[in-house]
Amino acid sequence: MPERATIQPPPTADFVVIGGGILGLAVARELLARHPGASLCVLEREGRLAAHQTSHSSGVIHSGIYYEPGSLKARLCVEGSRLLYDYCDEAGIEAIRNGKLIIATEESELLRLDELERRGRANQVPGLRRLGADGIAEIEPHARGIAALHSPVTGVVDFARVAAAFAADVETAGGAVVTGCEVVGLTRRAGSVAVRHGSGATQAGFAIGCAGAWSDRLAVAAGAPADPRIVPFRGAYLRLRPERRELVRASIYPVPDPVLPFLGGHLTRGIDGEVLLGPSALLVGARDGYRLGRIRWSDLRSNLAWPGTWRLVGRHWRTGLGELRHAASRRTFIAALRRFVPELDPGDVLPGPSGVRAQALDRHGRLVDDFVVHRTERALHVRNAPSPAATSSLALAKLIADQAEELL
Ligand SMILES: Cc1cc2nc3c(=O)[nH]c(=O)nc-3n(C[C@H](O)[C@H](O)[C@H](O)COP(=O)(O)OP(=O)(O)OC[C@H]3O[C@@H](n4cnc5c(N)ncnc54)[C@H](O)[C@@H]3O)c2cc1C
Repeated sequence: MPERATIQPPPTADFVVIGGGILGLAVARELLARHPGASLCVLEREGRLAAHQTSHSSGVIHSGIYYEPGSLKARLCVEGSRLLYDYCDEAGIEAIRNGKLIIATEESELLRLDELERRGRANQVPGLRRLGADGIAEIEPHARGIAALHSPVTGVVDFARVAAAFAADVETAGGAVVTGCEVVGLTRRAGSVAVRHGSGATQAGFAIGCAGAWSDRLAVAAGAPADPRIVPFRGAYLRLRPERRELVRASIYPVPDPVLPFLGGHLTRGIDGEVLLGPSALLVGARDGYRLGRIRWSDLRSNLAWPGTWRLVGRHWRTGLGELRHAASRRTFIAALRRFVPELDPGDVLPGPSGVRAQALDRHGRLVDDFVVHRTERALHVRNAPSPAATSSLALAKLIADQAEELL
């Protein structure tokens, strides 16, 4: 996304949204649709929008298979993916329903695949099918496995492009989108909240924090509980050489580990035709740790001072070492993916992009899986918006706007 011309934040606004990722922009759009004529501004710290998770994701529009039936995540993903496809159709943004296979390669994974099928059906994922080895080969000729689930409505999109379209909607509806404006804190006032930033302060009727990897800092400073804390997990991708892209038609995923569901690399043909392999998942020392080895002392201290980090590491150190090996060695990473695509060779891949997940971790060392929103006086703080929050952004924005209206 290009840098935007910097404009000054307004001195007052009915609503201030902090964070110009896909979620903050979706929330801003939703609020203006419900309150035409209200004054609203989005304040984004970076010089461009969608600079963090939104533009560093796998770009997959998830269909809602994984999530516990009845959970918020399930409902918002199924509804969000439908809303997102409709939005992309109307806005002329390319979004392709190219489908996804979740492949079991060992007998020991079949029970978990059964459970995923049960969840997918309960969540009413359209067109979900169970396949055997022959069915897998029909959909992905280079993939192998003993059984699979096929979701034809899973797709791909450029989430940064979607975020840019949301920003344009906000501006068309009279809102201001201000980049290069870091919010440093919220101060309660009688009947308003002062959103303090680099250019002074904006007196807001209501503020909503959608600050991704930094969401806990602003929320805690505004009086929200310390739990959960964000710990950054770096996810690195490899990409297939152009001449080997025919190995993957759409998306191939492993059967996830229910305890650490975001582990296990997948193979995905993105909207640009590029095939990405990954991501890995490595706990790192910077919330913008896109480069391996980057450390910010405040982030590292924050990780180390949180009891949950030590409990997580104590429980899953073996898995952590495996991820470290994946991050350090292309050969090991490819060996893991060769379970699904046996022809894959370390020579077929090039280095790819990386992203950093804003993973909420509770003080007991549990990865927080569902969306978390905290309230303080005249403010809402989104404390955890993990994958598939980009897919769910339009549905999640409705929920956040509902909650904001309850508090108004
Ligand atoms: C590797 C990876 C793969 C993923 N794959 C998928 C996928 O395939 N499908 C899917 O649906 N989801 C996926 N996700 C998850 C998805 O990207 C996120 O859930 C989603 O982008 C969250 O959006 P957001 O707006 O909350 O966060 P972000 O995009 O991180 O935006 C937060 C914004 O807040 C700004 N900000 C922070 N602090 C301040 C401050 N103090 N003042 C002003 N601005 C501030 C930041 O600069 C940033 O722009 C993936 C995530 C990662 C990391």
